[in-house]
Amino acid sequence: MWLQNFGFLGVALFSAVILTRPSVTALVLLTFVLAGVALSVVYENRVFCRYLCPVGGFIGLYAMAAPLALRVRDTQVCLSHKHKDCVTGNERGYGCPWMVYPGNLTRNVYCGLCTECLKTCPKDNVAIYIQAPGSDLLVAKERRLDEAYKAFIMLGCALLYSAVLLGPWRWAKDWANMASLPGWLAYATAFLGVNLLALPGCFWLATRAARRLAHQTARVRRLFVDYAYALVPMGLAGWIAFSLSFVLVNGSYMMTALSDPFGWGWDLFGTAGGGWAPLVDPALAAFLQVGALTGGLVFALRTAYRIACEHSHDARLALRATLPIAGFLVASALGFVWLYLG
Ligand code: SF4
Ligand code: SF4
Repeated sequence: MWLQNFGFLGVALFSAVILTRPSVTALVLLTFVLAGVALSVVYENRVFCRYLCPVGGFIGLYAMAAPLALRVRDTQVCLSHKHKDCVTGNERGYGCPWMVYPGNLTRNVYCGLCTECLKTCPKDNVAIYIQAPGSDLLVAKERRLDEAYKAFIMLGCALLYSAVLLGPWRWAKDWANMASLPGWLAYATAFLGVNLLALPGCFWLATRAARRLAHQTARVRRLFVDYAYALVPMGLAGWIAFSLSFVLVNGSYMMTALSDPFGWGWDLFGTAGGGWAPLVDPALAAFLQVGALTGGLVFALRTAYRIACEHSHDARLALRATLPIAGFLVASALGFVWLYLG
């Protein structure tokens, strides 16, 4: 998902402009639609969703924390079934539009849950299961550097969005909003530096410390990629807290906008003149944010420990290896709490 990583960063660099200028918002959405249509004319499958869509990349990453999973019931049935209808398609449905072979599916990342294979499989060998949230994060053989970087980018963007868009620093908003070119260039440099260098760099040091503390023998690069999957629950909690901060406080604008979507004086649902009122008491919103961040931190710490156990079979050593990673996770969680409550 490198293309999706850079696509997301490209969009995120202009997020303040995209969020505050409706014409730019429309242009970006139109570009997504046109790119999706153009690629679907050239290729058979959902190439845009699978390889390019900046949103698809992070949905795939966070789908690893999901309690639902589409999997085959019995891989032996797939092995003995010579005609792979789930790949080729048949009269009941398309071959997998995400170019996945369901028989090998062990994680949610690249499955769009379109349900085509549920329709096409003549052996009734595909089902949707309830699984322990985060099980996919522990599928060691599928871990990759591009996905690890996606985890850094999503965590870094959640922190930076919270600071710039919701924080009290007027100059940061002006820089992000392109009030001046030098200001935006400084913002872009800092934004890319934090996401691509600072956060991965600190995590690399934490990984080296974990390796040394627990005498782990795997290469640092392998451990760096593996431990990065513990960032997924933390980043997801950060985005939940970020979303709560404006949905619960500014959600009343949704009814106004739905009633008069173009600002042309319509009143489709009688709510155009509703004005602003917080959906919940801001104190309750802060309570929910801290709850989400605490839950995400506990989930992330547990994931880090279980990944450490893959490399240290002694529980005490695994616990020691978890300590530096836990330090990184706790610092991230405190950063969010400080931004929302500080
Ligand atoms: S069509 Fe069904 S049984 Fe055959 S390979 Fe695909 S999922 Fe397995
Ligand atoms: S649900 Fe859709 S995307 Fe997922 S494996 Fe089946 S056909 Fe592919």
